Amino acid sequence: MQGTVYKSTGSWYQVKAENGEFYECRIKGKFRIQGIKSTNPVAVGDVVSFDLEEGVEGRTGIIKKIKDRENYIIRRSVNLSKQTHIIAANIDQVFLLVTLNNPPTLTSFIDRFLVTAEAYDITAILLFNKIDTYSPEELAEVKYLAELYRSAGYECIGISAKKGKNVDKVKEKMRGKTSMISGHSGTGKSTLINAIEPSLDLKTSEISKQHQQGQHTTTFAEMFDLGFDARIIDTPGIKGFGVVDMEREEVGDYFPEFFERKSDCKFHNCLHLEEPKCAVKEALETGEIAWSRYKSYLQIMEGEDENYRIDQHK
Ligand code: GDP
Ligand code: ZN
Repeated sequence: MQGTVYKSTGSWYQVKAENGEFYECRIKGKFRIQGIKSTNPVAVGDVVSFDLEEGVEGRTGIIKKIKDRENYIIRRSVNLSKQTHIIAANIDQVFLLVTLNNPPTLTSFIDRFLVTAEAYDITAILLFNKIDTYSPEELAEVKYLAELYRSAGYECIGISAKKGKNVDKVKEKMRGKTSMISGHSGTGKSTLINAIEPSLDLKTSEISKQHQQGQHTTTFAEMFDLGFDARIIDTPGIKGFGVVDMEREEVGDYFPEFFERKSDCKFHNCLHLEEPKCAVKEALETGEIAWSRYKSYLQIMEGEDENYRIDQHK
């Protein structure tokens, strides 16, 4: 049988089979997958084939095979062992909730998030939430930011999760896909999910808060059906995407508006720093590339934020 992993508790995996039924599955023996060493061989979102266990009551199975992953996000443990844990796999897209205030979302945070999404090969969509609370000046700023990120290649939608504004647009984007919803605490993730699927009553923020207090609590991602052929992966206690490792040379490739101009730079391996005839710096001068994006690029290149240091994950 084939199915998708909805939940993992370490040794048991809850698998939803193609017939819509859930099976409790285990693995036997050693699994080696795609050359990465991780503490968990199977993750939420994995597509697996399994055999039903014979002579056992209830729906239980043994996982035989894991389908090659489209992508996956990892967490590197902070202790000495530096073990890699796969948080989730096969994610179609991630929505980043952005608010101007309560709480403020800085462009440096947005840019780092987007770079990580690119590194993971996951489509990112920006949702500017709480537009019902903004003054005309703030709405103008939202419009400016939306234009900025659209020209960088990202889809942007202004929404009010609380008033239901444009929630239907988000829903349409989710149909047929597996999504994640990220953003600072308080940006409206639970409110949005409840607006999309009230019956789910996901306690995202409550769970997250709980885990922020207990530092060493193990957290498990979980997948939920939204009832209109859409799924979301909830990662309580895991901020954003975890950590990705990347080389200095590849950071620029994760800024789509830099990457598309790179072939016009004089040097094919241009880092867009001090090199002559750099197409990125020229676009910066003409205003085609935003300074805030370039500033974020420099910060990431300088490795200012330890949390976003990375090494290759695939
Ligand atoms: P989370 O931590 O990201 O899950 O955020 P919550 O969904 O718990 O929302 C945090 C607060 O913001 C709550 O008081 C919500 O009622 C409020 N909120 C969320 N979305 C909106 C919105 O679109 N407009 C307004 N005015 N308040 C919102
Ligand atoms: Zn360049």
